[in-house]
Amino acid sequence: MSQIAINDRPLWQRIPLYLQIAIALILGLILGVALGAGQPNPANVAWINNLVIPCNLVLKALRALATPLILLAVLHSFLTANIPGRSGRRLAVLLFSNTTVAILIGLLVANILQPGKWGRLAAPTETSATKAFDPWGLLQDMVPEAVLKPLVDNNVLQLIFLALAFGIVLRGLKQQQIEEGKTAYVAIEDAIAILFEAVIRILHWVIALVPIAVFGIVAKTVALQGFAPFKSLGAFIIAVLVALFLQACYYLIRVHFGSWVSPQRFLSGGSDALLTAFSTASSTATMPITFEALLEKIGLRESSASLGALVGSNFNNDGTALYEAMSALFVAQVLGLSLALPQQFIVILTAIFASVGAAGIPEAGLVTMTLVFTAVGLPTQYIALLITVDWFLDRCRTAINVMGDMTVSCLLDGKKRQPQLSGIEPSDEN
Ligand code: ASP
Repeated sequence: MSQIAINDRPLWQRIPLYLQIAIALILGLILGVALGAGQPNPANVAWINNLVIPCNLVLKALRALATPLILLAVLHSFLTANIPGRSGRRLAVLLFSNTTVAILIGLLVANILQPGKWGRLAAPTETSATKAFDPWGLLQDMVPEAVLKPLVDNNVLQLIFLALAFGIVLRGLKQQQIEEGKTAYVAIEDAIAILFEAVIRILHWVIALVPIAVFGIVAKTVALQGFAPFKSLGAFIIAVLVALFLQACYYLIRVHFGSWVSPQRFLSGGSDALLTAFSTASSTATMPITFEALLEKIGLRESSASLGALVGSNFNNDGTALYEAMSALFVAQVLGLSLALPQQFIVILTAIFASVGAAGIPEAGLVTMTLVFTAVGLPTQYIALLITVDWFLDRCRTAINVMGDMTVSCLLDGKKRQPQLSGIEPSDEN
């Protein structure tokens, strides 16, 4: 966007989102303290409770957008991704293994550090998180009763089943039509691309309202409960940072043993991309820089760089997966519910798919997180608590998402350095 277009916007919109959220956080704290900081005047309690309304509306909108977003993201990727056969399988294995490791690290750290034990909120009565786990029921539940039902129920496993079925079939039909010289598939491809873009644009509107939601929820929480709930959030931030750090170490080890790139070269060559990811909180916005860094600074072949950074980045959001799994466990801990191992297994399963469906834009992880919560019966209104710290943690997990794409590219490039075909000579000072 040009500087002139940015300057034309109202002052508030010219402030970057993370600053807006930080300002809202401070204003919310001030109002909360003014309203009693844990000892509110009983006459005010009713309207203080209403401060949560913007947050509830934002969460409802995120929940509503989650299923179309995942469905369209999967269909769009199936229709447009250009992956040569063998590399496709290798890419799929790498993406799946990295994401699974990320979630396991997240769950391990959350189980050991127990950040949610630092605070306690009353659990709502309607929660089903303590329901017994029934794997056969889960299997029976995979197939939806009606095609549109997963969209209505926000059922992520059924939705993925549907999305994969239609994705595979549409890709096959497209291939067949290309071979037969037909072009009818173009209309469907365009329609899906436009709908996908439309959902993302609406998502941007909702995200623009996040500062107001943060202001309301912080003011209400501080006014009614004081600062106690924020203690556990501090512990949560530390736990997430520890887990993301461990995931970064895992990447470096994999790059060291699985590719010709040394960890130093990886970090110094990729630093532009990692810093951009941190400062924009968007892996999609960072994509061109990641691609360039892999190609020109690290010196990978174009095919490996594009598979990891351009194709992989659509599906590969390890930081997001780790974060969503930890959030589910954290909220369960804060509510005093224990998520048994089978339920944590559902968290793994849904977080894998939820991270695949997360768009590479700021706060997108919050959208698909609603599906992980729903899958294990956790009340989604507690995601509101996480909104207050998401502006910072989003940046950190986005950097890990991009680091994951870079790792996949290096591993695809192999243990022996191959000459680049593009003629670009990487600088060797890295
Ligand atoms: N902001 C992240 C990204 O762009 C997605 C997320 O919210 O987790 O990769």
